[in-house]
Parts: sequence; C-alpha cells; structure tokens
Amino acid sequence: METAKRPLIIPVFIPHFGCPHQCAFCNQRSITSSKDNTLSSQNLRARINNFLEFKGNNRGTVQIAFFGGNFLGQTKEDIRALLFEAKKFVASGQVDSIRFSTRPDTIDHGRLAFIKDFPVSTIELGVQSMDDRVLDLAKRGHKSSHTKEAVLLLKEHGYEIGLQMMVGLPGENQIGAYTTGEKIAALSPDFVRIYPTVVLRGSPLANDYKNKKYSPIPLDVCVSTVKELFLLFKKRGIPVIRMGLQASNDLDQGSEILAGPYHPSFGHLVFSEIFLDNAASLLESNGSLKGSVTDNIIIRVHPRSISKMRGLKNQNISKLKKKFNIKTITVAADENIDQDSIIVDG
Ligand code: SF4
Repeated sequence: METAKRPLIIPVFIPHFGCPHQCAFCNQRSITSSKDNTLSSQNLRARINNFLEFKGNNRGTVQIAFFGGNFLGQTKEDIRALLFEAKKFVASGQVDSIRFSTRPDTIDHGRLAFIKDFPVSTIELGVQSMDDRVLDLAKRGHKSSHTKEAVLLLKEHGYEIGLQMMVGLPGENQIGAYTTGEKIAALSPDFVRIYPTVVLRGSPLANDYKNKKYSPIPLDVCVSTVKELFLLFKKRGIPVIRMGLQASNDLDQGSEILAGPYHPSFGHLVFSEIFLDNAASLLESNGSLKGSVTDNIIIRVHPRSISKMRGLKNQNISKLKKKFNIKTITVAADENIDQDSIIVDG
C-alpha cells in the first residue's frame, strides 16, 4: 500500500517582526534561538534553498511558513519584500504555497486586499484566549471579538485558517481554557495548535514570576487540560496539529525557560494519557477483573501506538497494574488495529 507523502514546511522565523509590543508570555528570541532583527532577501532565499536541497523524493506539498512574529503588523514594504521572494519559489514550481501567523487584530479588508496577489493559502491567528479579561492580563491589546471578526473575514476570502491557543495563562483556570477551546471550536478553524504557558527568560511574565505574582500550572495539570481540549477538538473534527512548544536545544537545557510545564515530548504525554484513560475504562468494564489478582493481561495496539500505550518510562503499565491488581501486562503490536484503538485480552 502506498503511504501518503508528508508535506514539507520550510519554517522562516521572523522573531517579533511587526509586533506592536511584547505580550506578557512571549519572547520569540528565546523560543526560536534566533537573535535576528531583520531578514534580508538574500538570507531568506538561502534558507529556503537550503531546505529544498534536503527535501528528498518522499515529500508532498511544500509550504514556506513565516512564524514567530506578527506578519501583517509589519510595514507594507516589509510584507511585500518577504512575500515577493517567497512567491518566486512558488512561480518556479519548487514550493506550493505560503503561510504565516499574525495577530487577529491585523486582519482587515485593506491588508487582505494587499496580499491577495501573493500565493498565501494558510493564515494562523494567535488567539491565545477567548476571555477578554485573560487577554488583558496577557497584555495582548486585542479582544476576543477581533478573533471572531478575523475568522469570518478569512473565511470570506477562502483562506485555510489555523487558530493557536494557550493553556495556563494568568487568570485562566482549566475551565476557562476549556471554554476558550469551545469558542474556538465554534469558529470551525481548519486546525488548531495548543501551547502551554511557560515563563520565558526576558518575557514580562518572568518579572511577575520573580515577584510571585504568577505561578505556572504544573506539568500534569497542563497535560490533562490539553488532553481534554484535544478530545474536544477531535469530537468536532478539528485537527490539532501541535501540542506543546517545539523542542530546541536552548529550551531542553532549561536556559531559556525559568519555570512552567515544558516537556520536549509534550504531545506524547498527552497521547499517553489518552491511552491510559482508554485502557483503564476497558479494564474497568471487564467484569472478570473485579476483586481478585489477575495474572496476565494482553493489551493490543497498533505498532505505532506502543510507546503511547506504555507511557513515558512504562508509567501507564505500572499505574494499570497497581490499580487493577494485575501481575503482568503485555503490550502487543497488532497491525489490524486502528492507531487510536486498544483491545484488551485477558
Ligand atoms: S505573542 Fe505574537 S504579537 Fe505578542 S509579542 Fe509574541 S509574536 Fe508578538
């Protein structure tokens, strides 16, 4: 059977380009390890060519993606300069389209008219929260109504829309994050990304953390909250294309994160918890397990889902054994099972 070719995304970091100010939680220079304040056409071309060189034959569509700034907040000249270079790669057939992320309050008729002749197919909005009080505390400088209006306008223009939200922002608890998730789902984006709020060196939140005005949520609470959100979006048929920050050397070494629920395999933790919940409810409903010690249980999953079922350091297996009084649990690979499913034999 032929497997679908994976798309190639060429990330171009434009740290804080076009930002009207620094939002409380943000320091893109920490996240991307990039110290550049400008991006020359020459450097942009070199970066794209570099990625294309290592593309290989097994890739599907190719997109140039501008991340880490407020794309449409830049001056018209700067927007045009970046899109003009990127467009050349689309014209030559090496790249299929362009995407960028921008603030909801930069989406208006004038800017969309300005970019309409460039091959931009996807626009991502940094929504962060749909609670105006939380947006205020995060020093975003826009309201949730901007997000609603922006999504309507992007839909009118036929763009693919991605919405990014955060969990653990100042003043927002788990219920609040879920409510934001519901409001985002109601806008029917094409995909979402969910990021945990961590305390980044050099961000305004770092001062609040040092002055004990802000405490990040613990990793386990964050994972559970993101799990609930993932399941909510899944139920509505909305793909979640990222959970957690993109791992990097600086983030992994902890030099850029002062505190907060960062984990290099955050998404894996979320999926592992989903598999743990599903296995526990199957075992719960298995009458033969009640009240006595069971010798051996076999849990069958798709080969690609084995590590999710086991959990980090086999933690899921230890938890299930303890909870259900089972001596041994074998996780077996079974190609015939759907990647999200579990079958328990025992
Ligand atoms: S969150 Fe977005 S708009 Fe705010 S400072 Fe960071 S990149 Fe700029």
